[in-house]
Amino acid sequence: MPRIYILDVTNRDGVQTAKLGLSKIEKTLLNIYLNKMGVFQSEFGFPTTKHESLYLQANLELAEMGVLKPIRLGGWIRATVGDVETAFKLVPNIRHLNLSISTSEQMITGKFQGRKKKHDVIHDMVEAVDAAWAKGAESVGVNAEDASRTAPEFLVDFGLAAKEHGANRLRYCDTLGYEDPFTIYKSCRFLAEKLGIPIEIHCHGDLGMAVANSVAGAKGAIDGGQDAYINTTVNGIGERAGNADLVAVVLALTKSKGFAGKYRLGRKIDLSRAWKLAKFASYAFDIPIPINQPGVGANAFSHASGIHADGVLKDPENYELYGYEELGRGEPEFVETGREIIAGQYSGISGFSHIMGKKDVSFRRRSQEQAREILELVRYANVESHKPLVEDELLFIARYPKIAKRLLTLTPLE
Ligand SMILES: [Zn+2]
Repeated sequence: MPRIYILDVTNRDGVQTAKLGLSKIEKTLLNIYLNKMGVFQSEFGFPTTKHESLYLQANLELAEMGVLKPIRLGGWIRATVGDVETAFKLVPNIRHLNLSISTSEQMITGKFQGRKKKHDVIHDMVEAVDAAWAKGAESVGVNAEDASRTAPEFLVDFGLAAKEHGANRLRYCDTLGYEDPFTIYKSCRFLAEKLGIPIEIHCHGDLGMAVANSVAGAKGAIDGGQDAYINTTVNGIGERAGNADLVAVVLALTKSKGFAGKYRLGRKIDLSRAWKLAKFASYAFDIPIPINQPGVGANAFSHASGIHADGVLKDPENYELYGYEELGRGEPEFVETGREIIAGQYSGISGFSHIMGKKDVSFRRRSQEQAREILELVRYANVESHKPLVEDELLFIARYPKIAKRLLTLTPLE
């Protein structure tokens, strides 16, 4: 039976969201957490955007070093030969790409405004796919932007042309969050049957149905005989009302009535890392986790009313569908309540050695010179993120100072 894979797009859709952003070190840590959790692919950025180049290269180097393994790191570009060429020029080691182009009548008339007709859309896409293979891509997904408002027959023509040119998957983008679970099930099943290639499902929450639509679309693809790839973001952060939340999607796939044990993940997701990941993303984006967020919200396992509290104390299964331990919750959080020395952009070596000595025993064995170099990098990281670095960021910089240096390097106007 076909399987479901998670393709997280936080580092692409999440960071392109209005008013939000992440530093390159924060993006890197997210990739590390996603990898440890078992996520199949991270759409880790924009290979045609100059300020991303060093970050993307550094993360590919971490993959070669085995730090970001087995997760696949995929770039997002527009489906044009020009974008493919720029991507390979700026990030020569990139091997996984998703090529995106609008397919709906609305976008063809409303966005391209006569510059592109339907046949141009297919022509540009296949040319870009060919160029990606020629440049050394190992996997190519093709994104139909606004697929949910595209005529099904045109999507079949588009998908078959992509398949003929070797594309591995079709991304069905519900760009405006227009679908409902019943319609997207049908569309994804239809496309899986007609195209005979795996279907990626990309949903937004404008009508509050991103998670429901994602799992329904995946069910459709599988019932149509193909693997499904669900696009998620951490804490559902994404354009406008957001994307399908990673933790909620995994919970839905593994715990819900119709999915549990029937529609399976292709790679096991370690949910016990969910809590740490969600907290880190919340801190890095500077957005609180809603109190009622599935699994990781402050109220997800809180009970106040007499009947519920009594019931859950007798047997948690009376009022809880899954246990908090499964999500990595339950450890009391360590908050310093006494004297605190914080690493910042104006820190000195003595305070910094104190912090690192507490966190990493091996740091005590480093030379003064190495310690100073790491402190310098931490200062720069703080300049970029404008907030105290979390322990994992400090340890990352101490472990991989050369990589950190590249992540912190920004050289415009070259
Ligand atoms: Zn999107």
